[in-house]
Amino acid sequence: MNELVIVSLYPRDMNIYGDRGNVLSLARRAREHGFTPRVVEVNPGDPLPERVDLVIGGGGQDSGQGRVALDLQARADEFRSLADDGVPMLVICGLYQLFGHRFVTYTGEELTGIGVLDVETRGASERMIGNIVLDTEEFGEIIGYENHSGHTRLGPGSRPLGRVIQGAGNNPEDGVEGARTANVIGSYLHGSLLPKNPALSDFLIGEAAKRRYGGFAAAAAESETVRRARESAKRRPR
Ligand code: GLN
Repeated sequence: MNELVIVSLYPRDMNIYGDRGNVLSLARRAREHGFTPRVVEVNPGDPLPERVDLVIGGGGQDSGQGRVALDLQARADEFRSLADDGVPMLVICGLYQLFGHRFVTYTGEELTGIGVLDVETRGASERMIGNIVLDTEEFGEIIGYENHSGHTRLGPGSRPLGRVIQGAGNNPEDGVEGARTANVIGSYLHGSLLPKNPALSDFLIGEAAKRRYGGFAAAAAESETVRRARESAKRRPR
């Protein structure tokens, strides 16, 4: 009756630095808000479920991205129409890059993305690695961990997720991290991200609930464990 269908996108190939934790954390938070989450894993070749309320995807090495890029392209129209329809999605690192227009690796290989986010990424020689803290208007401080060589630049169709307080973010120059178009959020932040940032989970669940059930009454409590995890992650040096 109060089900929410969470698509876990490419968990076999795109699941690095604990990104699967985002799916577990989101399902748990959805339960705390009174929903019954149903997680559907979608790997290359698997059909999308008939009903999609939320999409979560993780990061991976360039090789993993190569394995999923063609399959994702074949679904580009489906994902574009879900995004246009307001389906909340969170895509991290490797899938953030592929939800943009293209990712050109450091060795010059071009992976075509699906253009749901107005971003483009180019691999560079140096990796950006370390703990990262963002300041955002909508979600307060976001805390995570980044490890990528891709430099991502935003076009006018996406706005940044946040301003970088500590760390690199989309690239070493712009001082911003992530991208947002409609309810689709792309970000480099692993960690995994959602356990330490329940405000993001609540946004994803809230938008999914409003779209499917016409409203959202938040019911999950604040957690002392989360508060302490955030404090301790913030204190860690880069
Ligand atoms: N291959 C990409 C990069 O290094 C993505 C890395 C990741 O998902 N952690 O930029």
